[in-house]
Amino acid sequence: MEKVFDEEVAMIRDTARRFVRSRLVPLEAGIDAADDVDADVLARLRAEAVALGLYGFNLPKALGGPGLGVAAKLAILEEVCFTSVPLTEVIGHLPLSLGYFNREQRERMLPGILTGKKLVTYALTEPGAGSDLSGIRTRSRKVSDGWVIDGAKQFISHAETADHILVLALTDAQAALKRRLTTFIVHRNNPGIVGMTRYRKMGWRGYHLNGFSLENCVVPESDVLGEAGGGFLAMIESINHDRIFSACRSLGLAQRGHEMACNYARERSAFGAKLAEHQAIQFMVADNDVEIEAARLLIHRAAALVDADDPTARIATSRAKLYASEMGCRVSDRVLQIFGGMGYMCELPIERFYRDARAFRIGEGTSEMQRIQIARHALAGR
Ligand SMILES: Cc1cc2nc3c(=O)[nH]c(=O)nc-3n(C[C@H](O)[C@H](O)[C@H](O)COP(=O)(O)OP(=O)(O)OC[C@H]3O[C@@H](n4cnc5c(N)ncnc54)[C@H](O)[C@@H]3O)c2cc1C
Repeated sequence: MEKVFDEEVAMIRDTARRFVRSRLVPLEAGIDAADDVDADVLARLRAEAVALGLYGFNLPKALGGPGLGVAAKLAILEEVCFTSVPLTEVIGHLPLSLGYFNREQRERMLPGILTGKKLVTYALTEPGAGSDLSGIRTRSRKVSDGWVIDGAKQFISHAETADHILVLALTDAQAALKRRLTTFIVHRNNPGIVGMTRYRKMGWRGYHLNGFSLENCVVPESDVLGEAGGGFLAMIESINHDRIFSACRSLGLAQRGHEMACNYARERSAFGAKLAEHQAIQFMVADNDVEIEAARLLIHRAAALVDADDPTARIATSRAKLYASEMGCRVSDRVLQIFGGMGYMCELPIERFYRDARAFRIGEGTSEMQRIQIARHALAGR
């Protein structure tokens, strides 16, 4: 892979690597132990990422991004995904749903978003609807100068600190799924957002997932994203793209654990030989090596197809996300095994990799949802 990197991509990759390893990695253990992170620290780091030209690296020029090619975007992604989940947010992998902003919304909101001063998140999931978005019950009704939303959302990434929450709500219960929902840009200080809670969870510590209700939440017409009834498409396009990011996060975590396990196996001795000389360890190392490379190739293929706007990009993205997320769990399990008892202790990040890997099989579409899409595609003979 290295050889195909041209000079500019290599430079971008080095910038990202230096920033991630010198500024973000040292903070990981403290954030994980506290299950929290100082918002001011994150804001300062985002400002550094902006200054380095990394923030919003995935956006096209039309949205004020750098319009990088696929090789550069992947190079940054791989470097960023070396660090822990709450810290990857610093780099500003921004939702492509921003492409649905109209001119006035772009002028009003993009400058804050692109400079990392205003944060965006999206809220699809609710108590009765996760994989199956047809179960969405948060509803919006038209009033004279806007909309009123009522409902509840759960498991929403950093809703408590986001400035703009893209809320998917029902606008026409009788319409087909693709025309039934509308995405609203709801500002966090809207008095209609009530009862914000924070989940305690297994991993991703310091990255907060929230639940909240929308009660008589008034949203002006100017804060509809795209057109009324077009909310599903406005969200889903972004989510398909985010699946590559999610797959890269599994890859980064697996790659880092694998490298640490190889180093450890070379140093640690048992029964008169280095761990690396025992065949049982070698086999785990080999399986990790192959699976990581397979995930990387699937991700690169999916990213290239997305970049080319190829109609098969969606299925390629599902393949990459499914394989990488399941690979991340297998590899982090083997890595922990190679470390023995030390892998289970919080002195090293190995147990964190194991905890963090698990969520990737659920978020951005569960493994089962990816399998359903892939099987449908294969069985249709495409
Ligand atoms: C770390 C994390 C971050 C998240 N961030 C966000 C966010 O920012 N915004 C947001 O909106 N949501 C977010 N989510 C929510 C996430 O998108 C949902 O959890 C996910 O879509 C699954 O929905 P669910 O939890 O309701 O499970 P369900 O849909 O209830 O599914 C439960 C189980 O049943 C399986 N299942 C469901 N239907 C079928 C079927 N037809 N065939 C076979 N199996 C099936 C599922 O695969 C799963 O294993 C996040 C979740 C996590 C874990």
